[in-house]
Amino acid sequence: MKKDILLLGQYISRTIFGKCPNCSIDKIFSSRFKMKSECENCGIKLIEKNGDNWFFLLLIDRGLFIFPIIVAFYFETSPKFIIVISIVLLILFIIITPFRLGLCLGFDYYFRSKIDKKI
Ligand SMILES: [Zn+2]
Repeated sequence: MKKDILLLGQYISRTIFGKCPNCSIDKIFSSRFKMKSECENCGIKLIEKNGDNWFFLLLIDRGLFIFPIIVAFYFETSPKFIIVISIVLLILFIIITPFRLGLCLGFDYYFRSKIDKKI
């Protein structure tokens, strides 16, 4: 269990900085927003099936961007504040896209490595 958490942490620490989760040598992005299909160094598939990362992306996006807006509504803050926080979160959402995608790949690669030992 502790080994699994360390492994997950290792994958995520590599992918959030844009490195391959397996070898940490090759970059996972071909451009700012586009992920490569496989690592050019070790050959692992970064995107096994199109849309594999959506589950984790959905969870992370809910947690980081939708949840703060819901909390702002819950505490009945002023509408101006909610609009400002929404715009700030939207800009942040776009800026940290490589980080979000990297985090998702880290989780995805971890679970794929648990299911299929061959990758
Ligand atoms: Zn690699």
